[in-house]
Amino acid sequence: MIAGSAITSFDFFLQWHLTERCNLRCQHCYQGEQPAEEMPPDAVQREIDGATEMLKAWESDYGISVTPSIHFTGGEPLLYQGLWGVIEHARGAGYGVALMSNGCLVTAEDAGQAARLGVFDIQVSLEGSERLHDAIRGPGSFEKAAKGVELLVKAGNRVSANVTLSRRNAALIEETVACSRDLGFHGIGFSRVVPCGRGKELLDDLLTPQELKAAYQKINALRTPGYDIVSGDPLAGIIADPHPPEDDLTLSGCSAGFSGITITSDGSVMPCRRIGLVAGSLKEQSLRAIWAGSDLLWQLRERESYHGRCGSCRYWASCRGCRAVAYAYSAAKGRPDLFADDPQCWVAEETP
Ligand code: SF4
Ligand code: SF4
Repeated sequence: MIAGSAITSFDFFLQWHLTERCNLRCQHCYQGEQPAEEMPPDAVQREIDGATEMLKAWESDYGISVTPSIHFTGGEPLLYQGLWGVIEHARGAGYGVALMSNGCLVTAEDAGQAARLGVFDIQVSLEGSERLHDAIRGPGSFEKAAKGVELLVKAGNRVSANVTLSRRNAALIEETVACSRDLGFHGIGFSRVVPCGRGKELLDDLLTPQELKAAYQKINALRTPGYDIVSGDPLAGIIADPHPPEDDLTLSGCSAGFSGITITSDGSVMPCRRIGLVAGSLKEQSLRAIWAGSDLLWQLRERESYHGRCGSCRYWASCRGCRAVAYAYSAAKGRPDLFADDPQCWVAEETP
């Protein structure tokens, strides 16, 4: 994928779900109901070292420079015993580290540890106003998260709000951005609800293509210097930069299998946690072997795998839709297909 291209540097991230345990039961969570095994900290640290070997091999084999990061999450990562030791190990191995939390369990000690270890971003979930947040995440969760954010900011951390966009909060984007500023966040990011896990019930909460387009136009228009308002959604990228890429070199868009990989608490390797399909297990193979050999990951990298509109789209290299939404939606309609059209895409319906 990299060899023979003009790429000289490459950002690569691991999203690491250290635990599936959580103190909340959010309505749109992609987790199922089954408890899952957890790797102890020394095993996680060994796997981090394995990932480092893979990245070093890429650098020497392809003559590129890799900037690696690990995004630790859960469940709720603060419930994982040994979190700070694992983060310290990752930082020592040269990774930028981010933390994704619901914010409710943060103590002053946690906030100090994150600052000491140079965690570059702590993402705390926010749904909108206190009423809406508590309706989705549970009573009292807004107040606890607000307290957690206060402690994190006070200790000197960069903290950003992470909003799951759905019919329930899409009309309130300005209010949600204002709320995040009031709470002391340094920025805000939006992603789409995926109707999988406990979120299976939320098919009706998916925005239509035109509603999603309007939401991303609004988010784009709200951008101001000094306060990051972002979305990692490939379709949001088309609003920000409507120029189609010139070739099939996949430098942006859905990261699943391209520039990121997910590791779950039991050592399963997935293209994306929200897709939920397993590419391999670290109990049986190295990350390097899974990355290079998994059919699932290779299918995600090849345009020929994609059906319908995405397969022939001029934005394929910079988009590919959200595979998790496409998969969950097609499954809900009784025809599970990872490479189905993204049901929320407005581009194809506007293309003559
Ligand atoms: S058709 Fe697929 S690749 Fe093209 S813009 Fe829509 S989601 Fe993206
Ligand atoms: S499948 Fe969706 S959530 Fe997962 S990396 Fe791709 S765009 Fe992001």
